[in-house]
Amino acid sequence: MTEARPHPYDPTAFRDVFEHHFTYLAGFWRNVHRYASRPALHDPLTGRRWTYAELGRDVERLAAGLAACGVGRGDVVVFQLFNTPEWALLYLAAQHLGAVGSPVNFRFSPGETALVLDDSRPSAYVFDVAIAETARAAVDVARHRVGALISVDAAAIDGPGGPGGRGDRVPPLRDAIPFGDLLAGGHPAVTPPADVTIYDETTRLYTSGTTGMPKGVCLNSLVEVLTAHDVIMHFPLSPEDKTLNMTPWFHRGGVSSGGPCPVFYAGAEAVAMPRFDPDLCLDYVAAHGLTFLIGAPTNLVMLASAQEARPRDLSTLRGIVTMGAPLERQACLRFQRVLTPRIFNGYGTTEAFWNTFLRPADLPDHAGSAGRACTDDDVAVVRLVEGDGAEPGDLAAKDGTEIGEVIVRSVKSGYAYTNNPAEQAQRFRGGWLYTGDLATWDRDEYVTIVGRKDDMIISGGENVYPVQVEEVLNEHPGVSECAVVGLPDARWGELVVAYVVAADDSLTATECDKHCQAHPMLAGYKRPRAYRFVPELPVTATGKKMHYKVREMAIADDAAGTLMRL
Ligand code: AMP
Repeated sequence: MTEARPHPYDPTAFRDVFEHHFTYLAGFWRNVHRYASRPALHDPLTGRRWTYAELGRDVERLAAGLAACGVGRGDVVVFQLFNTPEWALLYLAAQHLGAVGSPVNFRFSPGETALVLDDSRPSAYVFDVAIAETARAAVDVARHRVGALISVDAAAIDGPGGPGGRGDRVPPLRDAIPFGDLLAGGHPAVTPPADVTIYDETTRLYTSGTTGMPKGVCLNSLVEVLTAHDVIMHFPLSPEDKTLNMTPWFHRGGVSSGGPCPVFYAGAEAVAMPRFDPDLCLDYVAAHGLTFLIGAPTNLVMLASAQEARPRDLSTLRGIVTMGAPLERQACLRFQRVLTPRIFNGYGTTEAFWNTFLRPADLPDHAGSAGRACTDDDVAVVRLVEGDGAEPGDLAAKDGTEIGEVIVRSVKSGYAYTNNPAEQAQRFRGGWLYTGDLATWDRDEYVTIVGRKDDMIISGGENVYPVQVEEVLNEHPGVSECAVVGLPDARWGELVVAYVVAADDSLTATECDKHCQAHPMLAGYKRPRAYRFVPELPVTATGKKMHYKVREMAIADDAAGTLMRL
């Protein structure tokens, strides 16, 4: 018989503190008193500013206003807003009520918005009046009847045109409640439900839909805390920082990547920019002493050009962080030269935030890669196999050459989709997220993303990864941007086709082809065999190229005879 240990440890008290008091909301309220008089939020376009004490007061007022509209524990609040203070207030107020905040893409069509309304069945739907027509059509089309419609008219705050010149004002929906009425005070105060836990869903994001319809991704309170911790560790983000997101807060590369989530948890300051403007952004750095800018590589391209045209003092910057799309080697080195040597690149997904991170110390040697696994994450590149994907232990060679699928195991994921058990079972398996991204990794576990499985081209039986071909084309000075896709072809299976935005009008398909032929890193079968020059490429609101749309364009252009075949 084994004797009982004399002092068996009982974790009950720890578990109670951990599960009930280690919430994201608790972290925010700590800052409201700890940093009461420090800056929390600034909207330079309207001149509005909040200290932590003021932010706490407005979160309480908004929560009371939402409660008066019928929003309660577990209810969903959908908000379709630009990066304005109202966005930040809703993010926090939803959590204060024990509700789920669901910020959605302001570029969604009425049909896509209606799908979200039917998927999430919100008690309240908040929209910016600049997209009132979309909101009106979505509410009409959706089967779900939204409890309260709330309109934000941020444009009215600084007179005609409003922040960023939002264009024509559209009258709000007839029965919409002005956001200002909720904030005005006078509603019975609410206290956060006592029985919330770290496992409660707090925020629901929709993926950017680069390969199809957006999926609802559930994040819980602990996921938000650990996301904030990750940014605090990796930037590192401190209470003295002032961050500005150049991409929308509604996606993980916004809210989580130096946006409201880590900022209000760390006690730093968020600076709002409703619409990205590279010149204004650089002016803000100089005028307001910003310390971090966060965006997609396309934002950095525009920033670099604006800085070259009119250099500003960017010495307050502690870093520029990119996420969302591959950061090519040449582009990375240019940003270091022109903007700041402290360039970071986070690779990740809506599902699990970033999971690999490239830091300034990795440069220039590892420019072009997405860095190594984040502190708390397991990341592996596994062999490509038919069907469901390889087992986690079936690793691709760490030789910088073999292409496999990236899988991650991370507590920054909620491991769930809304109303989509089939996709959930497919993507989350045995604690791992199968990202569908293709990559190589090297001996030191630096991961280089080469594209998405869905975008891979098979030409003459060989795999062609669009990102590799695009990187080669982008090295030509006459190429501003490009997207490479596969066009169905009777002989080759798929034909490699390049859509190019030219930086120089004299650029020809023959010239591009000469450049590809002469390039030491591009096998012959990967060379585009047809070109089309276009003024712009289809991108999501979060700066990702939509290869599936370019592929549709290629099929149509081929039928119309407008592709330039070599
Ligand atoms: P989403 O979840 O819709 O925001 O899209 C996530 C996808 O964006 C990933 O699966 C990648 O394909 C791509 N992505 C995100 N960050 C990076 C990065 N740093 N480098 C390359 N691709 C990225």
